[in-house]
Amino acid sequence: MNRKIPVIKSSLPSFEEFIEEIKPIWESRWLTNMGAKHNELESKLQDFLGVKHVSLVVNGHQGLEIALQTLGLKGEVITTPYTFASTTHAIVRCGLKPVFCDINPYDYTMDVDKIEELITDKTCAIMPVHVYGNICDVERIEEIAKKHNLKVIYDAAHAFGETYKGKGVLNYGDISMLSFHATKVYHTIEGGALCYNDDALVQPLFLMRDFGIKDEETVEIAGTNTKMNEFCAAMGLCNLRHFDETIAKRKKLVELYRELLKDLPGVKLNPINPDTTENYCYFPVVIQKENAGYTRDEIFEFLKANGVFARKYFYPLITDFDCYKNEYDSNLTPVAKEISNSVMTLPLYDDLTGDDVRYICSLFAQWKDKSK
Ligand SMILES: *Cc1c(COP(=O)(O)O)cnc(C)c1O
Repeated sequence: MNRKIPVIKSSLPSFEEFIEEIKPIWESRWLTNMGAKHNELESKLQDFLGVKHVSLVVNGHQGLEIALQTLGLKGEVITTPYTFASTTHAIVRCGLKPVFCDINPYDYTMDVDKIEELITDKTCAIMPVHVYGNICDVERIEEIAKKHNLKVIYDAAHAFGETYKGKGVLNYGDISMLSFHATKVYHTIEGGALCYNDDALVQPLFLMRDFGIKDEETVEIAGTNTKMNEFCAAMGLCNLRHFDETIAKRKKLVELYRELLKDLPGVKLNPINPDTTENYCYFPVVIQKENAGYTRDEIFEFLKANGVFARKYFYPLITDFDCYKNEYDSNLTPVAKEISNSVMTLPLYDDLTGDDVRYICSLFAQWKDKSK
């Protein structure tokens, strides 16, 4: 058997479509600095995502950093350890202190019942993550933030195009960050965006992205450089045209996975939230050893030996990273630790086939029989 199924493959428009999209760049010779493609993508995304303002950035991570800086935050930020390195790194790199709140075992988002006990007089913000596209309890978070006068910045890297109770999910919080990295469900090769409704943030975020330069002779703030270039914006325009197709394909694959795995003991699937329209960005499974009879690591290795490359996403837990483990204790967030030790995401991308999914699921069934 020499089948090889990676966890992800970047989606691409046809070569011809991309070439058509970038042709005008040769005529204008305008390669970056808020060019025509950049501006077109910003306005198309505002419509598509149903949010008032979209500021494109060079990548999602830089988006998080300039969001924290533009809001002028100082002190402690309550966040989750169950996420990609970027979330915590952004807080730390901005001179802020992350305070880790545990997650709930149901959809792995921040456990809102544990936020308030972490608030001190130094707390300035909450940075939750819509992990795997599972929408946080945005209403409770808003309530807590209002009560304690805290800012909310969502790491919405996984939530592109999702709605919650009929409304674009990026409308919650002060700012939401999207990542358009090549591995994400919607991408611009590298890229990202900040989404927000407050008009007062438009100008500061514009300046922050471009060295604080207001005009030829005026530099207003000590900004950085996080602009998206025209080629990335062109890729974004192409991919946006095909986003609905992408979602339709992934939906089918996810439904097939669910159907084939639903009766396997000890394999917990991502919950379905009736208030959310999903983007099917990841397919996480949590292996509950007591019921499954095997561990995540065992099935992970078995899949690998059979050419299926799942990913332990998110393992290790951020608080166990070399750069943080002496400062933070992952035992203080036991649910996150438990999930991190038992989760993996299965292959999911546009041109994964139904046959691939059936093959992957048959390996689970085989392993279960073997491990008895
Ligand atoms: C991808 C990702 C980021 C970082 O985005 P980049 O565009 O790669 O910088 C941040 N947070 C989460 C949860 C992510 O998955």
